[in-house]
Amino acid sequence: MIFLPFFTLACTPLLAQETQEPESQKTVAEAAVEVTFESMIESITVDDLQSHVDFLAGPETRGRGTLTPGFDKAAEYVEAQLRSYGLEPMGPEGSYRLPIELQCAVASSKAFFKVTDSRGKDRDLILGVDFMPIPGSPGTAITGDSVFVGFAIDARKEKWQDLPRKSVSGKVVFAFTREPYADNAKSKRFDGLAATDYSSLQTKAREVKSAGGIALVLVPDPGLFADEAGPIPNLTPMPLWPGFSSKRLGAIGGTAVPVLSVSRKVASEIFATDLDKYYLTILKKKKAKLIKAKGKSEVSFQAAFADASVPAYNLAARIKGSDGDGEVVVVGAHLDHVGFNHLTDKGKMRVHPGADDNASGSAALLEVAQAMAGGTPKKDILFLWFCGEENGLLGSRAYCAKPVYPHDKTVVMLNMDQIARTDPKEMNIGGLWELKSFGKLIKKLSKRISSPLKLDLDSGRELYSRSDQYSFFSKKVPGIFFFEGNINDNPVYHKPGDVAETIHTDKVMWVARLFAATAWSVAWEGQRP
Ligand SMILES: [Zn+2]
Repeated sequence: MIFLPFFTLACTPLLAQETQEPESQKTVAEAAVEVTFESMIESITVDDLQSHVDFLAGPETRGRGTLTPGFDKAAEYVEAQLRSYGLEPMGPEGSYRLPIELQCAVASSKAFFKVTDSRGKDRDLILGVDFMPIPGSPGTAITGDSVFVGFAIDARKEKWQDLPRKSVSGKVVFAFTREPYADNAKSKRFDGLAATDYSSLQTKAREVKSAGGIALVLVPDPGLFADEAGPIPNLTPMPLWPGFSSKRLGAIGGTAVPVLSVSRKVASEIFATDLDKYYLTILKKKKAKLIKAKGKSEVSFQAAFADASVPAYNLAARIKGSDGDGEVVVVGAHLDHVGFNHLTDKGKMRVHPGADDNASGSAALLEVAQAMAGGTPKKDILFLWFCGEENGLLGSRAYCAKPVYPHDKTVVMLNMDQIARTDPKEMNIGGLWELKSFGKLIKKLSKRISSPLKLDLDSGRELYSRSDQYSFFSKKVPGIFFFEGNINDNPVYHKPGDVAETIHTDKVMWVARLFAATAWSVAWEGQRP
């Protein structure tokens, strides 16, 4: 579910208004036995759900930020499952990917980074390969001598101060991301594994400024970014909220001085020092050592951003119905999460796994797809895994602007988002306030499947506009929101602590089963909201 940043009121009045192989494969060939209501319900299991969530919220996907390699990894996983279930792909050329375009902030061609060595020889760094401006950075052009300081931290009480005024004043300050001992659980300094505010790139930029530095260049630290050959990954393209523009990035992640990132390789060359070794040395000695570039080397650069339309995709699969009336039941979940979330996490570079939000709903939708695969409903069933939900329901908005089925043929949209936390014995379904008889039907279905979960059909109005059913509701399609309940009882909402090990997998199973039963009642039994 989307977090509403402060600028939402101004720019989205609509919202403010309110690849591994699967363990249990069931191919079409094997599914000779017709799917029944009971077989469908029973085949949705805790073990399958947990293994889907383990992958989707695992280390490979790095928080599934939209338009990042980690999101693609998650998508490939979903696609492999769908293929093994034998579901019909709805994208072009047998693909499950439905192409869409997203408005994004991208580094503009005006962004540059130049290194001048002591003999006056210039070298232009390559955008995206060697360097990347950081969204939120001022666009001031900078020229100056450089110094490498460690982490750009002035923390007397943590016994780490690497910004002496006499060394950094008037200089471009290079430093690693995060903070010392960030991966050392035993360390008492810097709060062990928890990232302190010293990790924040905004804090670093402020400290650099107050020590007289003119700019900050961040180098991916070898602890978090061991295999990263380029600058900090996943910074751009950055999907923009509807109506938002790259010109306003400073309003959400503004920094006191210009901030860019360069690769460790480039920084190692500028300072003629192996920075992987240097990192280990300063952590061992528990003290940063300033390094100045060999000879005299000057850097000049500028951060610059532009708006651009960037190709992205939702995932779509179908089970074809038998009655041929062109009507469809849309079932969905958003696959994306916030990734590193560098703007709203103040650039602390923490991965947000998003096990509950929304690996849980994505995994549940996979289980529903597997449970229904090979069955013959009356109406078509369209499965959608959205991107860009966390950036302002972008994937579902894009689908609704160019739907596969006309909206007046879409009987209902059922959505699952965050179904794995809060009270393990309760769940909430939003969107039934004006659909009383459909609410009664869902209550009956809950009894029919012997679900132990207490159903709350009254709460959640204030959350209804914050997930993908709202995009459909805006097009007059009834949108039903399967949700975990009181979000104030979820302490890890949009936090790095939303990990796979601590979800209520039983709860996910019962929500998924009730969701499947609801879809069944419409697609097989002709019920309507
Ligand atoms: Zn969310």
